[in-house]
Amino acid sequence: MKSKLSSRALPSRALPDYEQAAELVAAHAGKLRMRPVLFPNKERVELGHATGRVLAQPLLADNDQPPFARSTRDGYACRAAEASAHASLTVAGSSRAGDPPAGPLPPASAWEIMTGAPVPAGADAVMMFEHIEKVGKAKVSLLRSRTLTPGENIVAQGAQGHTGDELLPAGTTLHPGRIALAAACGYASLDVFLRPRVAILSTGDELVQVASMPAPGQIRNSNAPMLAAMVAEAGGEPWVLPTAADDAQALDDALVQAIDSDLLLISGGVSAGKFDLVEPALARLRARFHFTGVRIQPGKPTVFGELPRGKKAGSRSKTMPFFGLPGNPIASAVTFLLFAAPVLAALAGSRELYPRFALARLAPPVDRDVKPGLTRFLPAFCDFGATAGEPPQVAFVPWHGSGDLTALARSNCFCVVPEDTKILKPGSLVRILLP
Ligand code: AMP
Ligand code: MG
Repeated sequence: MKSKLSSRALPSRALPDYEQAAELVAAHAGKLRMRPVLFPNKERVELGHATGRVLAQPLLADNDQPPFARSTRDGYACRAAEASAHASLTVAGSSRAGDPPAGPLPPASAWEIMTGAPVPAGADAVMMFEHIEKVGKAKVSLLRSRTLTPGENIVAQGAQGHTGDELLPAGTTLHPGRIALAAACGYASLDVFLRPRVAILSTGDELVQVASMPAPGQIRNSNAPMLAAMVAEAGGEPWVLPTAADDAQALDDALVQAIDSDLLLISGGVSAGKFDLVEPALARLRARFHFTGVRIQPGKPTVFGELPRGKKAGSRSKTMPFFGLPGNPIASAVTFLLFAAPVLAALAGSRELYPRFALARLAPPVDRDVKPGLTRFLPAFCDFGATAGEPPQVAFVPWHGSGDLTALARSNCFCVVPEDTKILKPGSLVRILLP
């Protein structure tokens, strides 16, 4: 077997930087999006169960949206020109939401109308109640201080879409507003893509089950539940495999089992230690490695590649993408967001792009060291309830390195420190990686 380059054999500067690694991942995700569909990959779900699912069909307007010219205000429908001339307009009728379209509106008339009601034929604007004065018992006129333009306070029929228009393409991840649109268009249920199955393999002799009391030197496996939650949140179906020992045979067996998934996440065993046996095990299964380390911190030993499925491929693609994520919990979380989430989104049929970043203002204290040559993703807490007109404020969470689960739990994002940063300045605008 061809020996492969290993992160432990390579000097740091030979590793891809964050941008290069992200490009490799994005290229692979792009290929996955283009792959032919070889097996049934959809199911039908009721609207009530559609949040977070990815549309496998375009959403079409079954009618004009809105289906009739609709008033956006309580007031009087009228002709804008007559109203702006401050003529006294005779109130010719009244419409409330749910009434059929009325009219035509006689000349020199206004029509009392409520929000959501169809605008009577002949009217081209709506005067708000607050902007009129009554003239005698049966007439109204627009306040002298006001004018009205045609179209004001009316949404024209079909303004949001015409019958048969594609309102949302396949590949759209459904959120409550999109579910509302589907409902308005008469869809009681929708075709969505099946969730990709994501195998999660934890490795490490020190790991015990969550329900167990760790003996001295042991720790509970926290990565499996964390990664399962991240996978579920990103639209995948987590499949947690039994923990594998730091032992060649145990890893070989576990990897063979994992081939039955769409994506494999391996936690631990990819650093430079004597018992980090994951890369050799992957190589024994003829893995193709896209990278075996990235110039980031935490997460430098991250491995990305594809395993051939061989005879187990069946009707599926010939290879299965995998990530070897460093075992330290913060490293696992960061590298999942940076690299695994974009591949998972592609497998889920989603057009959404990951990772997601935002800008925030760095709050003091900025007591973190910079590490030239490594892009850092440091646990931070962003106050998204920003003062009006100000970007959100982000502050570092105190931490004791990338194994600090308390720091991870107290964070809600990761502050990005680019590899060429010389000094961190409070008050500067920084990128944050969003969960
Ligand atoms: P490794 O990447 O295997 O060298 O592990 C790095 C660190 O992460 C070690 O301190 C491990 O004990 C810890 N670790 C590895 N796997 C897990 C896991 N599943 N849950 C929590 N911590 C882990
Ligand atoms: Mg380990």
